[in-house]
Amino acid sequence: MAAGKQEVIDWLSDLQRIYSENRELLTALDSAIGDADHGINMDRGFTAVKAELDTHPPVDLRSLFQTAAMVLIRTVGGAAGPLYGTFLLRASAACAGKEVLGAGDAVAVFRAGVEGIQQRGKAEAGDKTMLDTFLPALSAMQEVLETGGDLRAVLEAGTAAAESGMLSTVPMQARKGRASYLGARSVGHQDPGATSACLMIRAAADHWA
Ligand code: ADP
Ligand code: MG
Repeated sequence: MAAGKQEVIDWLSDLQRIYSENRELLTALDSAIGDADHGINMDRGFTAVKAELDTHPPVDLRSLFQTAAMVLIRTVGGAAGPLYGTFLLRASAACAGKEVLGAGDAVAVFRAGVEGIQQRGKAEAGDKTMLDTFLPALSAMQEVLETGGDLRAVLEAGTAAAESGMLSTVPMQARKGRASYLGARSVGHQDPGATSACLMIRAAADHWA
């Protein structure tokens, strides 16, 4: 089992539907601890990504991730656009020369993307951000890969860890991003970016393997 260009196109296209369907949820989460635009941002960004892929189909995996990254960076204001854009840009570089992603490639691509988010946003585990979804997902994927898991097993473990990571943000106090301005008042709310990250990983499990 491996993910090629078509699987990644299907994933990105489905993210347009997913963020459109979850626009109100993500915006409601952001209205509690931010400025109520996260759902709008993600919907706008992935609608633009899908439009670009439909009109200018990229030739290979690398340019596919790169196109999606550039469109997100261009169309999404706010913190999340550049962070997801960086994730996809680093993923793109990690795809260089590859036509399909097997389990090891997928973990490498994912790791490159997560490291990009960390470098760009300077957040750490426990800061109540999207990284509280991405970091445990990456660890779980790595662990399953090391014990010989295939792409499906890797992505399923990543999704399960992403879901608990997302939920783990509820009791956290935000130390990065707009929610950090609230101090202790950010406690008790699920982080919007941790939620959109979980949706992204779950969709990858649906389409990549
Ligand atoms: P903004 O906060 O600019 O309105 P969004 O609402 O689109 O942008 O995105 C907010 C999300 O971005 C947060 O829920 C958090 O998960 C994520 N985020 C903010 N700052 C950082 C950071 N420095 N590192 C990682 N993620 C971050
Ligand atoms: Mg916001």
